[in-house]
Amino acid sequence: MIRLTYFSIIGIVIALCAYWITSNPGQVLINWQGWEIRLSVDVLIILIVLYTFTFLMVLKLSRWLNIANFLSNPKRLATKRAKAESHLDQAWGSYALGDFELALKQGLKAKSANGENNSVLRLLAKVTQKLEKDENPYLEKLKLSSGNNIWVHKQDLHKYLQDKNWPAAKEIVSLMLEEHPKNPYLLKEAILLNARLSDWENAKNSISSMEKNRSFLAKNDLNHIKAVVDYALALEEKAAGKKSEALNLLKTSLNNDPSFAPAALAAIKTLIELGDIKTAEKTLKAIWKIAPNDELSDVALDLNPKESSTETYRRVKVLCDSAPHFAESQHLLAKSAIATKHWPEARKALDTLIGSDKASKETYMLLAKLEVKQKNDYEAETKFQKIAEQKPLGNKWLCHACGSSTQHYFPICDECGEFDSVKWSKN
Ligand SMILES: [Zn+2]
Repeated sequence: MIRLTYFSIIGIVIALCAYWITSNPGQVLINWQGWEIRLSVDVLIILIVLYTFTFLMVLKLSRWLNIANFLSNPKRLATKRAKAESHLDQAWGSYALGDFELALKQGLKAKSANGENNSVLRLLAKVTQKLEKDENPYLEKLKLSSGNNIWVHKQDLHKYLQDKNWPAAKEIVSLMLEEHPKNPYLLKEAILLNARLSDWENAKNSISSMEKNRSFLAKNDLNHIKAVVDYALALEEKAAGKKSEALNLLKTSLNNDPSFAPAALAAIKTLIELGDIKTAEKTLKAIWKIAPNDELSDVALDLNPKESSTETYRRVKVLCDSAPHFAESQHLLAKSAIATKHWPEARKALDTLIGSDKASKETYMLLAKLEVKQKNDYEAETKFQKIAEQKPLGNKWLCHACGSSTQHYFPICDECGEFDSVKWSKN
C-alpha cells in the first residue's frame, strides 16, 4: 500500500513536470567549433532520461556479469602483489649496490603495481634522499602518519650524523627518547652526541640512563667511554683550579679503564704538582706495564727533579724492565742511558729493537745520537739518520676516523670532531 502511494506521488510529480515543460516551450542552442546544435527543451530532457536509463542498465549488466568480482579476484590480486614485491626487492637490491637511479625506477614500478603503501614510500623516500633531490614528496607523505614518526626521525638522524651536524642530531635523539626513553640504540647515540658536543655532564647522565636499561654497548666499551668522560670532566675541573676534584675523577676514570693512558698521565702530572711523587710513580708503574706511550716516557724522565741522573736511570730501568716487550720501553731506556753516558746499555736497548721487527724511525735517530755522544762520529750519525728516513714512524696518537695525527691525546679529534677516535697506534 505504501509502495503504491509512493509510486503514485512520483507519477504525479513527473506528469506535473512534463505539463509545466510543454506549457513553457524553449530551445537549447549549442555552438562549438563551427558546429551548431539546436534542441527543444523537450528533446533535451528525453535525451537526459535516456542517458540515465542506459547508464543504470550498463551498471546492472556489469554486476550481473560479475566484473567487480573479476577485478577483486584474490588470485589476480596476489599476482599483482607478488609483482610489486618483486619490484620492491629489486629496488632494495639496487639501493644496496648504490645504484639509486635504478632503485627509483624499480620503486616507482612497485608503486604503480600495488599503490602507495608504507614500504614502497619508505624505499622511495630513502632513494630520493640519496639522490639529493630538492624535494622529497615521499618523506612528506610518510610524515603525515604518526605511525611513521620514528622511521622519519631515524632518516633525519642518519643524515645529520653523516653531515656531522651534532646539534641537530642531538635534538632528534632527544625527541625520539621522549617516545622511547629506554631504547638502547638511542641511549648510545645520546652518550656519543653529548660527548662530541663536549657536554660531559649530560654525557654522564646518558651513561647512567643506559646503565639502568639494556645496554647497547659491551661492558668494556661502556667502561672505556665512562673513563673518557670522567677524564674530560677532570680536565675541566683542573682548568678551574680544582686539583683534588680533578684527581678523584681521574682515579674513577682509571678504575673504569685501567689501560686508559691519558687519564694516568693527567693523574701523574697532577700528583707531581701536588708534591705526591710516590703516588705519581706508583701510577706510572701501573700504566707503563699496560699502555706506555711517548708522553708517559717524557714524564718518566722528569718525574723527580731532585734525583741525580744515575738515580733517574736506575728508576727508569726498573720501569722498562717491567715491560720489555714494548718498543717504548727500549726507547726510554736508551734515552735515559745516553743521558747518563751508560753507552753499552743504550746500545743494547736499541739493538734489541733492531733485532726484532719493532725498530722505527726513532730507534735509528737514537742510534745516530748515540754515535755522536759516545764517539763524536758524525759520519755514522749521517748514516743512521738516512736509514731512519726509510723506517716507519712508530706509534703515535692517531685518529682512527680521519687518519690525522696529534702530539697529545684529545677526547674529541681536532680535525674531524669525532669522539674517542684518537688512539695510540701505528700508522
Ligand atoms: Zn679525526
